[in-house]
Amino acid sequence: MDLNTQKERETNLELHTSNFNSLLATNLFFGEECVNKNLPLIIQEQGYSKIFIATDPGIVSSGILNKVLKILDDSSIKCEIFSEVEPNPLDVTVMKGTAIYIEENCELIIALGGGSAMDFAKGVSAVVGNGGHILDYRRGKKTLQKKCPTIIAIPTTVGTGSEVTPVSVITDPQAKRKYIIASPYIQPQYAMVDPTLTYTLPAHIVASTGMDALVHAIESYTSNAANPFSESFSIQAIKMLVKNLPTSYKDNEDREARAQVHLASTLAGFAFNYGKLGIVHSCSHPMSARYGVPHGIANAVILPYVLEFNKVTNIEKFAEIARIFDPSLKDVDEREAANQVSKVVHRFNAQLNIPSTFSHLKIDFTHSMIAELARDAMDDVGTFPFNPRKASLDEVVSIYQKVLI
Ligand code: NAD
Repeated sequence: MDLNTQKERETNLELHTSNFNSLLATNLFFGEECVNKNLPLIIQEQGYSKIFIATDPGIVSSGILNKVLKILDDSSIKCEIFSEVEPNPLDVTVMKGTAIYIEENCELIIALGGGSAMDFAKGVSAVVGNGGHILDYRRGKKTLQKKCPTIIAIPTTVGTGSEVTPVSVITDPQAKRKYIIASPYIQPQYAMVDPTLTYTLPAHIVASTGMDALVHAIESYTSNAANPFSESFSIQAIKMLVKNLPTSYKDNEDREARAQVHLASTLAGFAFNYGKLGIVHSCSHPMSARYGVPHGIANAVILPYVLEFNKVTNIEKFAEIARIFDPSLKDVDEREAANQVSKVVHRFNAQLNIPSTFSHLKIDFTHSMIAELARDAMDDVGTFPFNPRKASLDEVVSIYQKVLI
């Protein structure tokens, strides 16, 4: 590919120092057994008497829900459990949960699970606080105007960073779209990142959610909204994930590697709060909404193709990323290192047994199906505008054509 044009680079430099807001609104606890140590204290300090627990069937069968219930029970804290959250949570499920929250006079939400349980919890909090239907508040429609119930987020996957973001991603199955609801009112007030709660994760979910975190870190590092504040989170998360994700995937017993990966996923959440995302996410959301591909897998598969497209915008940054994946690239010049970025990420995916295309879906994608996906991707206003390289419809179609075969 051609080198970056002077004009594109000037644009990046200009944006590098653009305004950002750095309020870290989430009180973060990290470490083994941090839930055990802090959860009851916080609930009691705030004087809440009835808690709504938002979780999913996998968390019930893994024994994690029981572990948390015991902690609450030991402190005589009463709970209403909603454990029906599905992957890529649906608007109807949010509305069902909201009705139960109100009927049971709950006062605080514990979000226990991966991004799906946490985003569902944010959806419930939004509607309890503001009324109406959750999709009324999707980006571009109404904004949340009122304070919402407090959320304590306890992530059990190693990916989304939702525990520290003001964003909820909710699927509308009728429109076959994933919509973003974003407001400081739904950012969790507390996050408890306890690596011991990830020990029951199957290896393939360590891989897919860990790659989701890596995509957050890389997209936020290279986006046109990146700034020195966000970059410090992004680059640290990239280093920690590249070093520890393969070990954590292969060896579930390696506590240090798992702790590094879990913390990195939270850092990557902070990173994209302030540095935004790009067209990996724009292209992956339609793959989940239309074809049910898990979020982390969709991101991981698309990542190398978008890196190939984006690398011309900032040779130094893409070279730096490539060298983190493959330190031997320090011996080649910047341009050559940047040129390898897609290849080294393909290799990294292969170590995690992540497919290199979506051919495993065994779907015969027609031109009109690809055009629909591309239009949805370009309509993703929360991510598409922040990609470092502007992409036309034809260019998005071309990325899909490569990744769908
Ligand atoms: P997930 O929450 O859908 O969970 C995937 C599966 O893993 C579920 O079956 C769950 O039961 C199981 N699981 C979770 N933790 C487990 C554990 N410790 N042991 C055993 N099983 C466990 O997956 P995810 O990737 O964390 O979340 C994806 C969702 O998050 C998507 O809807 C995506 O759009 C959203 N997301 C949100 C943000 C945000 O900032 N709000 C960011 C990225 C992604």
